[in-house]
Amino acid sequence: MIIEAQGLTKTYQSKSGPVHALAGLDLQVPRGTVKALLGPNGAGKTTVVKMLTTLIRPDAGTAVIDGIDVVRQPKSVRRIIGVSGQYAAVDENLTGFENLEMVGRLYHLGGAAARKRAQELIDLFELTAAGNRPVKGFSGGMRRRIDLAGALVINPKVLFLDEPTTGLDPRSRIALWDVIKRLVADGTTVLLTTQYLEEADQLADDIVVIDDGRVIAEGTSDQLKAQIGGHRVVVALVDSADSGAARDVLARYGSSAPSVSTDGRGIEVAVTDGPTALQNMLADLRAAQINLHDAGMRRPTLDDVFLRLTGHKADLSATDDDSDSTPKLSKRAQARRAQASAANTDPSDLEKVK
Ligand code: ATP
Repeated sequence: MIIEAQGLTKTYQSKSGPVHALAGLDLQVPRGTVKALLGPNGAGKTTVVKMLTTLIRPDAGTAVIDGIDVVRQPKSVRRIIGVSGQYAAVDENLTGFENLEMVGRLYHLGGAAARKRAQELIDLFELTAAGNRPVKGFSGGMRRRIDLAGALVINPKVLFLDEPTTGLDPRSRIALWDVIKRLVADGTTVLLTTQYLEEADQLADDIVVIDDGRVIAEGTSDQLKAQIGGHRVVVALVDSADSGAARDVLARYGSSAPSVSTDGRGIEVAVTDGPTALQNMLADLRAAQINLHDAGMRRPTLDDVFLRLTGHKADLSATDDDSDSTPKLSKRAQARRAQASAANTDPSDLEKVK
């Protein structure tokens, strides 16, 4: 295991009382693999990443990266990790190239080496045309790529990606996934946090679902989906008067109780073997002379996983508890601090380098 964490605990004090961000979380990541931490807003994903990247200390528990203790030897840990956060930690007024060069200098690479590495990353991330333009003219996708490139300046053994594609359009998301896949193929270990099941699906060997600061499920994407029913069968009735009878048919093959839409014409149920269940249901519905507008099956979505595992929906619009008694840094300042910390540098040095 390149990452081993046990019993990670963190309680924040807020005006409305203590917030148990992590409640004894265990995590193991095998070398050269991608592990996704999946969870709704406030589940504790960022707190795990902050602990493992030495930005905050756990109240209790231990974490080791490549044999190095994150609490006792934070500087050594920072030399082998890269971090790309939710908000691109880039300087708006510098060009893409200059941003990467600056990160190299913060890592004490030396001028020539920092410029060489910056150019390699500009090429790797296909930012050649944009590399010499100030970041303020970059699209969201380009910003994310530059930020990720910044996390790779030192060729980290472990790369932490905190919601790397939140807010990106589907094309930019796929492009970023491709870059991450290439890094993994070259041997980088990745710990990724995401709210998107599809992202975990695309990238992760293994997924850990967390909620309320603890692990509530773990496995490959297929295992998790199978756990909540491999498929969902969905039928649309011609006549809502058939609702009760149709519901009974679906219940026969479902792995849980069917849900019925408010107008009574849409019925959905989780099943373990989708194709067989669908065929059986269609035969039974025909025998019962129930007419359908439509019928089909689909894979579970993130909402399905959460609904089953946590009893509540993955509410992507949920807000964080902002009633923290400690003053909050702006998103930009947080990003700078994270980058400086990753570079083992005082945040104020960022200003000096500029
Ligand atoms: P998101 O998807 O919104 O980034 P997350 O899963 O990363 O969520 P965390 O940011 O780790 O969640 O937060 C876990 C819990 O700890 C939340 O309830 C959050 O409000 C709380 N929390 C995080 N940082 C602080 C802080 N500095 N002070 C008080 N509470 C905090």
